Amino acid sequence: MLKNLVALFAALFFLVLPACAEDNSALYQLSTIQALLAGHYDGLASVGGLKKYGDIGLGTFDRLDGEMVVLDGQVYQVLADGTVRVAPDGSTTPFATVAFARPTIVREIGAFATLAELERVLDALLPSANLFYAVRVQGRFDALKTRSVPPQRKPYPKLSEVVKTQAVFDFRDLAGTLVGFRSPEFAKGMTVPGYHLHFIDDARARGGHLLDCAASGAKVEITVLPRWLVDLPEQDGAAALPKTDDEELRKVEK
Ligand code: ZN
Repeated sequence: MLKNLVALFAALFFLVLPACAEDNSALYQLSTIQALLAGHYDGLASVGGLKKYGDIGLGTFDRLDGEMVVLDGQVYQVLADGTVRVAPDGSTTPFATVAFARPTIVREIGAFATLAELERVLDALLPSANLFYAVRVQGRFDALKTRSVPPQRKPYPKLSEVVKTQAVFDFRDLAGTLVGFRSPEFAKGMTVPGYHLHFIDDARARGGHLLDCAASGAKVEITVLPRWLVDLPEQDGAAALPKTDDEELRKVEK
């Protein structure tokens, strides 16, 4: 009897363990950046469903209605008018990336005057340029520049056209958190290579896609993600997406 119980527990342990490891170590991604660049803005999956794959992340919403910030399991929507709301579980997203924050690299970092400087500081903390990382940077920022985008109507314009009408926000002396990912260069086309960060302030009232930032110091938490799980869009139709245009990607992200 006891032997049977031990065997049962052993079987359960080995059944459950891989499932946990799978959930906690993977970057989950819905659709591809290339599909988004090409104007595929229809929601493909619910915000509620996204929460199964992570508690930290970023993305956008159906019709490109604002910037998504996922922090501590809550999904926020930064609208083009600058307001922030909690996104209902039933709302949908055409593109999002999330992971479970289980940071193993935790550091207090010194001053940085630009996003490029912050990126160099973060890069120096990483064990490899060939893995994915979930990044969280918490602090009081001297300056921040973010953007959001308004909802689009069909026929959807390309993302490089939409960003010409983006709303840009400049904040001074604001406490909050940068959340996002660093992806390897070779992931281009599927996702944004390098850093892609969104911001939300401590009051959960201001935020957006990060364009630039400066601070006298911050707390960094990095989760190493050696696995990448992608749900490809099935509604794209027969036409192959074009090859990723470096210049177009730079225009929409920076
Ligand atoms: Zn973004």
